[in-house]
Amino acid sequence: MQQVMLVTGASRGIGAATARLAAKHGYAVAVNYTSNEAAAAQVVRDIEAAGSRAFAVRADVASEADILAMFEQVDKRLGRLTALVNNAGVVDITQRVDEMSAARLKRMFDINVIGSILCAREAVRRMSTRHGGPGGAIVNVSSAASRLGSPGQYVDYAAAKGAIDAFTLGLAKEVAAEGIRVNAVRPGLIETDIHASGGIPDRVEKLKHHVPMQRGGSAEEVAQAILWLLSPQASYTTMSLVEVSGGR
Ligand code: NAD
Repeated sequence: MQQVMLVTGASRGIGAATARLAAKHGYAVAVNYTSNEAAAAQVVRDIEAAGSRAFAVRADVASEADILAMFEQVDKRLGRLTALVNNAGVVDITQRVDEMSAARLKRMFDINVIGSILCAREAVRRMSTRHGGPGGAIVNVSSAASRLGSPGQYVDYAAAKGAIDAFTLGLAKEVAAEGIRVNAVRPGLIETDIHASGGIPDRVEKLKHHVPMQRGGSAEEVAQAILWLLSPQASYTTMSLVEVSGGR
C-alpha cells in the first residue's frame, strides 16, 4: 500500500520542501495551498518528475468546510491518508501586545491552532485503528518561539505555537494505542518568505548571530526532520517536540 501524505501550506517554504522530499521517500502527496495555485502546481510537477503521485488542493485551514472538502479530495484522488503535516501558518512580527487587535488574534489562532487541530481530527478519523484505519503519523510544525516567548514581536504567535506543543503531547497519548504517532518540530530561524510576509524581510540576516550555529536554517533541513519523524525509523518516537533551530 502506498503511503499517502497531506501537507498543509505546501506551495512554498517548509511545506513545499516537505512535499518534495516526501515524494523521494515514495509518498503520494496532497499539496495544499490557499491562493498561489501556480506555485502549488509547480510542486506537483516536481513530485511527478520524481516519479510519485501528487495533486494540488485549495483550502483555507481557517475554514472547517474547506478542510472537510480537502480531506474528501485526498480520499478520492490518492486513497486513505497515512501521514499529515500540519505546516500552514502565519505570523505578524510587527506588534507588541498593547497594539494587537482581536481580529489579529482570531486569525492567528484560527489558522495556526484551530486549523491544525481540525486537520488532525480528520486525519485521526481516517488513520485510527479504532475507525478501521491503517494507523499513521502526524507532524505538527510548531516553533522555537513557543519556548522563547518572543517578547516585543509576536507573543500571540508564540502562544499559538505553545498550544500546538500541548496539543501534540495530548494527542500523541490519546491515539498512541490506535496506531498513530504524533510529534512536532520546532524550527528556529529558517530562511523562508514568512519573515517578509510577517513584516521584516531581512530578519534572518539581522538575527542569525543569536543562533549558536550562527546561521539561518533551510526549509530542506526542517523537511528532513519531519520526514524522519513520519518514517518507520521513528517507529517508537511519539510525543516528541524536536528542535530544528541550530541550537537556539
Ligand atoms: P511560509 O510563509 O513560506 O509558509 C507558510 C505556508 O502556509 C504558505 O504556503 C501559506 O500560503 C500557508 N498558509 C497560510 N495561511 C494559510 C491558510 N489559512 N490555509 C492554508 N495555508 C495557509 O513560511 P514557512 O517558514 O515555510 O512556514 C511554515 C511553518 O513553519 C509555519 O507553521 C510557521 O509558523 C513555521 N515556522 C517557521 C519558521 C521560520 O523561521 N521560517 C520558524 C518557526 C516555525
